[in-house]
Amino acid sequence: MDTQVAANISTDDGLPFYLPQGNEVALFEHAYRHRLPMLIKGPTGCGKTRFVHYMAARLGRPVYTVACHDDLTAADLVGRHLIGDGGTFWSDGPLTRAVREGAICYLDEVVEARKDTTVVLHPLTDDRRILPIERTGETLQAPPEFMLVVSYNPGYQNLLKGMKPSTRQRFVAASFDFPAPEAEQAVIQGETGIDSKDAGLLVRLAGALRALKDHDLEEAASTRLLVYAATLMQGGFDVRAACRAALVEPLSDDEDTITALMEVVDASLPR
Ligand code: ADP
Repeated sequence: MDTQVAANISTDDGLPFYLPQGNEVALFEHAYRHRLPMLIKGPTGCGKTRFVHYMAARLGRPVYTVACHDDLTAADLVGRHLIGDGGTFWSDGPLTRAVREGAICYLDEVVEARKDTTVVLHPLTDDRRILPIERTGETLQAPPEFMLVVSYNPGYQNLLKGMKPSTRQRFVAASFDFPAPEAEQAVIQGETGIDSKDAGLLVRLAGALRALKDHDLEEAASTRLLVYAATLMQGGFDVRAACRAALVEPLSDDEDTITALMEVVDASLPR
C-alpha cells in the first residue's frame, strides 16, 4: 500500500511549496480547529495532495497519505495481525497510526476503496470521533489534533462508486480545479525554476489541450504533467519532445489521438 509521512519538497520557510487558489487554506484551518473532517473534490494532478501536505506542515502535524484502490479494505486502514518470529503481533494501519499520533490522515480517491471502509470512517467523522478496532477490542478516542481528509475526482464517478449522501454529509467540502493561467504559470516556475516565457507557453498549450478534453480524452493535461514538461525542458529537452513525453503520450494510447494532440502542440509553439 502506498503510504508516506510528510512531503519532502520544501521552500525557504520549510513548508512544501503551495500556491493557494481561493479560501482553501482558511477553510482547512477552520475545519482542523473545529475537528471537522474535510472532503476535497477535483481532477487528478490539480494540487489536492500538495495542499494537504502543505496544510499538515503549516499546522505542524504528520500526515499519512493512503492512495485508495478497489482492493483497499477496512483492515488495510485499521491494521491486522501479522506473523513474526515470536508469534502473531498486531500492526497498526495508517488510519490507526494517525489517530494514535494525532496526525492528519489523507485518503486519496476514497470512492475507490471497498465499501467496508465506511464502517470505520463513520464513527470517526461524527461527534464521537472514535475508532473501534474490532480485532483487538480496543476503541481509540481521536485526539483534537487528528483530522481526516478525503479526496476524489468527480470525473471518475460512476453510479456504483459515488460517495453515499450519508457519508458526504459528514464533511466540510471544497472543489479544486486546475489553477487559473497566471497561478498555474507561477506554480510551474516555482516547482521547476523555468523562465516565465516557457512557463507561459506551457500554460497556453495546456489551455488548448484541455479544450479537447471532452471530445477525445478521458483526462485533461494536469498541472502535474505541465510540471513534468517543464522539468524535461530544464533538463535540456527541446519543447516539442518535452511536450510529447509529458503532455501527449501520458494522455492517450491511440495513434490518431496522439497525432491530433501533437498538431495542437505544434500550432501552439512559436515559429
Ligand atoms: P492531486 O493530488 O490533485 O492529484 P498533486 O497535489 O499531486 O495533485 O499535484 C500535482 C503537482 O502539481 C504537484 O506535485 C505540484 O508540482 C503541482 N501543483 C498543483 N497545484 C499546485 C499549487 N497550487 N501549488 C503548488 N504546486 C502545485
